Amino acid sequence: MTNRSLSDIVSCLSDYDPDALPVEQAQRIIREFITPVEAIEKIAIRSALGRVLAQDIVSPIDVPAHDNSAMDGYAFRGADLQPGENAFRVIGTAYAGQAYTGAVGTGECVQIMTGAVMPAGCDTVVPQEFIETAGDRISIVPGAVVQGDNRRLKGEDLCSGKIALKQGAILRPAHLGLLASLGIAEVPVRRKLRVAFFSTGDELRSLGEPLDQGSVYDSNRYTIYGMLTRLGCDIIDMGVVRDDPALLEAALKSACENADAIITSGGVSVGAADYTKQIMARLGEMNFWKIGMRPGRPMAFGRISSNGKSAFLFGLPGNPVAVMVTFYFFAREALLHMMGAAAAPLPLARVKSLSPIRKKAGRTEYQRGVVSRGVDGEWQVELTGSQGSGILRSMTEANCIVVLHDASGNVAAGDSVEVVMFEGLV
Ligand code: AMP
Ligand code: MG
Repeated sequence: MTNRSLSDIVSCLSDYDPDALPVEQAQRIIREFITPVEAIEKIAIRSALGRVLAQDIVSPIDVPAHDNSAMDGYAFRGADLQPGENAFRVIGTAYAGQAYTGAVGTGECVQIMTGAVMPAGCDTVVPQEFIETAGDRISIVPGAVVQGDNRRLKGEDLCSGKIALKQGAILRPAHLGLLASLGIAEVPVRRKLRVAFFSTGDELRSLGEPLDQGSVYDSNRYTIYGMLTRLGCDIIDMGVVRDDPALLEAALKSACENADAIITSGGVSVGAADYTKQIMARLGEMNFWKIGMRPGRPMAFGRISSNGKSAFLFGLPGNPVAVMVTFYFFAREALLHMMGAAAAPLPLARVKSLSPIRKKAGRTEYQRGVVSRGVDGEWQVELTGSQGSGILRSMTEANCIVVLHDASGNVAAGDSVEVVMFEGLV
């Protein structure tokens, strides 16, 4: 990520062709051009769920603070263990939150609860289920434990002075718990990314308006709303903007003055009124691409300025599936980087394709599929019927996107393919 101009970046690509741009090149240009927001705010850890950590968190304490027992059982000196059966005399009890403070000598043990501090000198715990008691004595089943068993070491989770969380982490439930385990109530996070978006097209109607002949309801604004909200962006929904040069220019300028990034849909394909692109180009440094992919060939990307403010602009195609695919495979990672997140590429899983898939080499195809477990126990994928870029149902029925890379041709039934699952665990 640098402050280089878009033309500097593309001039470094020996084979840059905006009319036949491979997916990976487009992703690379975007990655190199965008810059993250700098501002930081300090917020309570509960409010920080889903936010991006702005600074490394150094652990102020050892977690756990003391060696402690991992089991309910009896603590003793591991050096006392002899081959065969072992017997110890019980001299006291250690509870979680109430340590045993006396000395423990050779041949002695202390009954101990999970999480209780290990008594001085003790380094081994035999679980309850491996002993027999007789009066104040216990005997241990031969071979049940070796020295050091069932003891959690001081600092084994987190060490005082060491980095516990790295800046750039997206804070998930485990991160909140870990911060709490360090006694940290507030964390520095990057400010939320502001993203403005609108739909373009004279044929579009907003919800509540009558659907006259030839018009369609604006669905892209709802999918974009959903995708941005899931990413954790602050959104500015600017509605539908008609295919009118003055209105488009005003909308782009206003978006630019109020947001870090702008997402538009429609108007960037060949058939659309050319002035959408002209206006975008007039307001800043824009690239207009035909990407080697399906769906979603046309896309505009760059940065526009107005009244001293600038914003990154993603001009996504209009077709409802194309807008989602281009968002997920281009805008998503870019927005995460803008949010300051150390976003790794989406993991791809390999599964078996149940049916043959027709595929042209030389472009990346994103088909919608359903991954399920076959009777043989293996994971498999089946496409969701018609794959047209206007068929949004294919996205609602799918649980994954099948990514067929540039080089691959037709897929035979039983071949393995790569998929991106919709659902993650956290
Ligand atoms: P365009 O890229 O503007 O030529 O649009 C391509 C196709 O996507 C056309 O059939 C449009 O009607 C449709 N489309 C564009 N924007 C939207 C939208 N916001 N919601 C639903 N369909 C759209
Ligand atoms: Mg249009």
